Amino acid sequence: MNAKQSDQTHAWRPFTQEKSASEQIHIIRGKGAYLYGADGKKYLDMISSWWANLHGHSHPKIAEAITKQVHELEHVMFADFTHEPAIRFSKALGALLPGDLNKVFFSDNGSTAVETALKMAIQYWYNLREPRTEFIAFERGYHGDTFGAMSVGKGCGFYKPFEKCLFDTELVPFPATWWDDNCVEQKEALTLSKVMTCLNKHKNKIAGLIIEPLIQGAGGINVCRTEFLQKLVALCKANDVLVIFDEVMTGFGRTGDMFACIKSGVVPDIICLSKGISGGFLPFAATVTTNRIYDLFLSEDGTKTFMHGHTYTANPLGCAAANASLAVFEEDKTFEKIRKMEEVHCLRISGIAKKFYIVKRPRVIGTIAAFEVGNTGEYGNKFSQILKNKFLSLGIFIRPLGNVVYLMPPYCVNESELHHAYDIIESVLALEL
Ligand SMILES: *Cc1c(COP(=O)(O)O)cnc(C)c1O
Repeated sequence: MNAKQSDQTHAWRPFTQEKSASEQIHIIRGKGAYLYGADGKKYLDMISSWWANLHGHSHPKIAEAITKQVHELEHVMFADFTHEPAIRFSKALGALLPGDLNKVFFSDNGSTAVETALKMAIQYWYNLREPRTEFIAFERGYHGDTFGAMSVGKGCGFYKPFEKCLFDTELVPFPATWWDDNCVEQKEALTLSKVMTCLNKHKNKIAGLIIEPLIQGAGGINVCRTEFLQKLVALCKANDVLVIFDEVMTGFGRTGDMFACIKSGVVPDIICLSKGISGGFLPFAATVTTNRIYDLFLSEDGTKTFMHGHTYTANPLGCAAANASLAVFEEDKTFEKIRKMEEVHCLRISGIAKKFYIVKRPRVIGTIAAFEVGNTGEYGNKFSQILKNKFLSLGIFIRPLGNVVYLMPPYCVNESELHHAYDIIESVLALEL
């Protein structure tokens, strides 16, 4: 049985219409920015395997740290026990994050990091004996596929069958912007006024606001300005609403700073981290909050306890990978690479925008570059599949979101590899469109 037959018999792929999807590629090895197929072909991974990989596939230092840890302590439950990798990582995270973000709650993936944040926010108000259970979130926002995350992410349009099961969320438009956008201030003012209207209309019901700061990921790589985030956070704080930053995708260098909150100069009340947290090696996540919020859960009263947890909370292997990934940031001078990557992105994206009239809304932020082609938007549509397959046949893994073509390479990609990816994109745009 070949890989295709075995997988199609037994495994159900994520986000995939199995009826029309093309045959999956059997990958046997990853090294640096490349994935190697069983068919002898190699693919330049320009989306970091769903935005998780940071320093390259099978980075030796992270592999070594996990190997060492697995021989010492593979796992221990985190309720009655602790261990060095968790102590080290939570301390490091507290030092990296701005303000008073110091209390780290570990879980397994982006969705659970978001669930944890939503439950923390709701119980914060419960513990104050001032119950509030609603959230403000953004149109086209994506926060994961568990029920709480779907409820605040219903603006991404993926959840029709589950609509009736989702809790109330007030959606406001995300003021997406791009190069040469001259309406950005109006869009931002409109959003801020809608947030204000929500706050007035649902006075004392809104527990918090959740946003993917600076970039919405799955909703289409939509970028907003730091100025907007600053005003939004100030508005929430003035109205006593908790601010949750879902940095599951933006965290760990993606925006050009370690976190989008740092780039924007604002401090949320709760931050969700996953994807790149382990360098892309293991499913791992953290929800970090302030001492002020944490302290409200300290009580003799059992109902104030945060009754939430996951079997693999603070898994030592995940912590070891996360510690090793932070070390690689230093050792490999990752932020120098990130700055170079941003320069190449800017250069090539501006070239593409000039050359192809069909290319619209170019935008670059840190390690992420995107543009739109044509007007057909839907996730997984035919057009995006054709493009993806064309890129794959040319040895590049790029996976458009509807009509949005974007690059989010691992930080190890070198300039010539990145230029090569752009050359391929240009050749496809010239041929196909
Ligand atoms: C991917 C993603 C999630 C969900 O993470 P999973 O690990 O897939 O559950 C949540 N929020 C954002 C912003 C994401 O990009």
